[in-house]
Amino acid sequence: NKEHKQLSQEMEMGLKRVMLVAGVSQRLLGKVAIVTGGAKGIGYACASCLGHEGCKVVVADIDEQGSSRAVSQLQLEGVLAAAAKCDVSKKHEVDQLVAWTVQTYGALDILIANAGIVKGADFLDMSQEDFDAVLNVNLKGVFLTGQAAARQMVEQNKMSPGRGGAIINMSSVNAVMAIPTIAGYNASKGGVNNLTRCMALSLAAHNIRVNGIGPGSIMTEVLAAVASDKSAMNRVLSRTPMGRVGDPLEIGQIAAFLASDAASYITGQILYADGGRMALNYTVPV
Ligand code: NAD
Repeated sequence: NKEHKQLSQEMEMGLKRVMLVAGVSQRLLGKVAIVTGGAKGIGYACASCLGHEGCKVVVADIDEQGSSRAVSQLQLEGVLAAAAKCDVSKKHEVDQLVAWTVQTYGALDILIANAGIVKGADFLDMSQEDFDAVLNVNLKGVFLTGQAAARQMVEQNKMSPGRGGAIINMSSVNAVMAIPTIAGYNASKGGVNNLTRCMALSLAAHNIRVNGIGPGSIMTEVLAAVASDKSAMNRVLSRTPMGRVGDPLEIGQIAAFLASDAASYITGQILYADGGRMALNYTVPV
């Protein structure tokens, strides 16, 4: 019975994935996007969702083989995509990425600043090296890619006023919910939230919208490791009112929405997709 329940849940999610990808409009036709950390997980799902809405996508990742594999899969599905190697924490690589994208596809309209890493250790034991590594990718990477993309978008707006642009930064529920064993990660995502608001304020006059997405527990490789530990997984589910983890495509769909004109008056916001976890912050014992 338990196996049957699990199988039907998997089938339901499989069906949902097909419907999410197949039943989409072409809201992003003619647009060009960069997705950082797009080789797998949430980034790949963002690239897929944007691509199926007509967007040309550059999958940028530090993992060169991974991004090539991702692009081959996207191309099989009919998405116009190209792979680029980029470490988001290195300014010269980020600048090259933006220049190469414009050279390849003629413009840059959307950035999904998704690349992120986690390094766990109790606060008292966390090394300076690990703290720096997390901040460099998760926060400085968002700054560097956002600035390089925005500079290009500002120029495009001068050439064709009203063209606009959209930047989406991948945050986390951990931007506001503290876990002491991932202090660097928490700090980096808290920084992403406020950087998102600063970027939105600076770029509003240029018709560039900047928003964040705050996922809860999403089934990517990071969580798959947790899923094999039954008690750890039960802890995750016990703090998720919807009683299940999220699918990466459920985040990709939000990225496509925020990038599209359907979100034309939304800027400076963080949209949480967490199965209700943040709502638990507001409950009191009854
Ligand atoms: P993942 O580990 O599956 O994928 C991350 C990708 O980023 C990988 O392809 C990796 O090669 C790439 N990457 C790592 N460092 C990079 C760098 N310096 N430059 C370029 N690319 C780099 O992770 P995921 O679970 O898909 O997470 C994606 C984003 O979503 C991260 O920012 C993460 O913090 C955030 N997030 C994930 C969850 C979750 O439950 N999975 C929850 C909240 C937030």
